Amino acid sequence: MTTKNAIFIYSSEFEKYHYPSEHPFHTVRAQRVREIVSPMGLLSGSGGSEVSPKPAERIVLKKFHTARYLHALKAAAAGHLDVEALQMGIGSQDCPVFRGVYEYSVLAAGGTLTAAKMILSGQADIAFNPSGGYHHAGPELAAGFCYINDVALACIILAEQKKRVLYLDVDVHHGDGVANAFYGRSDVLTISLHQNPKTLFPGTGFENEIGTGAGYGYCVNVPLPVGTYDQAYLKAFEAVVLPLMKAYNPDVIVFELGADALAGDPLANLSLTNNVYAEIINHLMNFNKPILATGGGGYNVDNTVRAWALAWSIFCGADRDEDTSHALGGVLLESTEWQGGLRDRALAVTEQQRNAVEPAIEAVVQEIKKTIFPIHGL
Ligand SMILES: [Zn+2]
Repeated sequence: MTTKNAIFIYSSEFEKYHYPSEHPFHTVRAQRVREIVSPMGLLSGSGGSEVSPKPAERIVLKKFHTARYLHALKAAAAGHLDVEALQMGIGSQDCPVFRGVYEYSVLAAGGTLTAAKMILSGQADIAFNPSGGYHHAGPELAAGFCYINDVALACIILAEQKKRVLYLDVDVHHGDGVANAFYGRSDVLTISLHQNPKTLFPGTGFENEIGTGAGYGYCVNVPLPVGTYDQAYLKAFEAVVLPLMKAYNPDVIVFELGADALAGDPLANLSLTNNVYAEIINHLMNFNKPILATGGGGYNVDNTVRAWALAWSIFCGADRDEDTSHALGGVLLESTEWQGGLRDRALAVTEQQRNAVEPAIEAVVQEIKKTIFPIHGL
């Protein structure tokens, strides 16, 4: 594999903003990823480098969000929360109004858009914004902890430049805001792997939701049963995503890397280790197209931070176990007894789990092969 120019998107400005203390979303995750990868030498020099984003411009935000919504979000942040804003999800339990919510969301979106621009200009082969990935926000809707849909905006910007975009979403929740945005389009293929929506927010993302009109067959949903473990997940990924990626042949991959599918996430019920993300990233990098990666969900903060630090080390071509454990020099996260660096220890799979998970995944894979693959000549 050739050396990639990898850009880490971060600004200390992000450290100013916090969801309310009782809220599960922790903006500090990006900062903590940085605290791990910086001493490893992965933010300067040959491996990777760091770029500070500017807030997204209003004219760009309006490519996805309505003026009415942007106005309401800004006004709410300034203390003016009215019924209209509440009807758009602003100020709900999931999407509370916190100090600087508008500024934070617009800066986070600016990070993902900076990543898109650097990929378009050829300055970056890989760009990672751990403060991005707000895939649930709608044009006029705050939902699922998301206010500004940075990933939909990035796909729009890339598609405007005539790029074929693969949007791949491995967050444990269905990437509904992005799927809906491109449901009738074939220039952005959306693929979301997530926990079965019968058992998890947002309740959409079944395998029979496959797009409409020109977008028919260009929306792919892979719902996964509770308890899905590494090998089963990878089997689904390899059976569905790899052939579609090859057939679609995108110019750029937008990768929403929510880490809430990891075992131990307090909001979801899959049983993955971060080794799955490592495998997926290796697959994506072998495909040799630019990758715009973002954060997303991930509510066990320590596990999420470690997964994203591992992801970044792979993006930088630095995931050699002995290197990472040496470079960490004992700076391991307190909550894990595992001393093997950034990678999680493999988790045992029970017979019962295997029997529950495998047939469900096999059925989904077969359905996708039947309905979607022929549209792509597979
Ligand atoms: Zn999520």
